[in-house]
Amino acid sequence: MLSTNTPTRPHIPIAPILSGASFRRAAAVRLRSVLDAGEARLVTSGRVAIALALREMGVGPGDKVLVPAWHSPSMVPPVLWRGATPVFYKVGPDAAVDLADIAAKADGARALMVTHYFGFHQDLAPLRALCDAHGLKLLEDCAHCFIGEYRGLPVGSFGDFAIASSMKFFPIYEGGALVSSRHRLDDVGLRSAGPGFEAKIALNSLEKGFAYGRLRPVQAALWFPLRIKSALWGLLKSRRAPGAAALAPDSSDSSFDFDPRWIDKRSSFFARAMLRLVSPGRVAALRRAHYLQLDCGLRGMPGVRPLFPALPDGVCPWVFPLVASDPEQVFARLQAAGVPVVRFGNPLWDGVDASVCANSAHLARSVLSLPCHQELRQQELDWMIDTVRKALTA
Ligand SMILES: *Cc1c(COP(=O)(O)O)cnc(C)c1O
Repeated sequence: MLSTNTPTRPHIPIAPILSGASFRRAAAVRLRSVLDAGEARLVTSGRVAIALALREMGVGPGDKVLVPAWHSPSMVPPVLWRGATPVFYKVGPDAAVDLADIAAKADGARALMVTHYFGFHQDLAPLRALCDAHGLKLLEDCAHCFIGEYRGLPVGSFGDFAIASSMKFFPIYEGGALVSSRHRLDDVGLRSAGPGFEAKIALNSLEKGFAYGRLRPVQAALWFPLRIKSALWGLLKSRRAPGAAALAPDSSDSSFDFDPRWIDKRSSFFARAMLRLVSPGRVAALRRAHYLQLDCGLRGMPGVRPLFPALPDGVCPWVFPLVASDPEQVFARLQAAGVPVVRFGNPLWDGVDASVCANSAHLARSVLSLPCHQELRQQELDWMIDTVRKALTA
């Protein structure tokens, strides 16, 4: 429903922000998460989980790892860290993996990484069969589907290993999961990254909640602790040895870097508590409802179409992806208007261009995604739909 008078420009968070509502329950939707797929280890990012999965698979120097040509650049450094070579395979115009291209590149490869883009599952049965036929290990990249079910099973159940990224779904600033329904994770020993890290993660979450006005009652209660925070912070930093690892991983600052010093670090107490306290049912119900509102409000607009024709049962979407025919112009207009836009796979890993996979190059350039996370407010959704419609008809 569009409002008649244009509301004032809101400050819309691109990712979930801690709010008083974060801990509510929802009975309407019951979806399991990747953590229900098997044994799980909680680390500090999705990319660290990828690195651990490759290590557990025995990927080492000289091995080939098949990586989708449409990817997050953060998926590649863990492959290089193992001394292995990424081999990029094609995806179709709808982002479905190209089975024939994978089969053609499978000989001599050790592992196959498959991404469930935006929370929409790839067809896993033929992929599993192909992996078994070629002796490939399957790594399900569930970075976009922490929550969700596929054929009656939690996401991540088909792969030898699955990885997920907590920051994309929960109001926290570090977190990733390594999961396996088929292998024990006894060798994956983790230890705490220390009190500085624990404090930083908890305070960051609270601070973001305040910055977006989502945590007002708590804000009053925390007035004093936050005043002393910066002082405490300066002290912690001044006492650290030069060259010591940063207090939080780069992955928390939306960089694509991979720092192997985080490989054996456990996710923070705060982040692990969040994963227990936040109801996946509420997250899924709200993300699905927001996705459908955006789809309904923008379908048929000139110059864009939704990447996916429908929202299947069991999908808890990461964002709402639109394919734009003139992406640079639309992106510039949305940015100028203050609409948060995610451009997944833009940029791609160096050297991955249309000669490697024309569809990937096209998707990376033309897919613009809007947030649909659980902490969006109704007036923010209305404003986003209204503003995008205006940008498309201007
Ligand atoms: C974000 C992302 C990752 C890495 O997750 P981080 O938690 O940022 O390290 C891996 N794969 C895909 C497809 C991603 O979008």
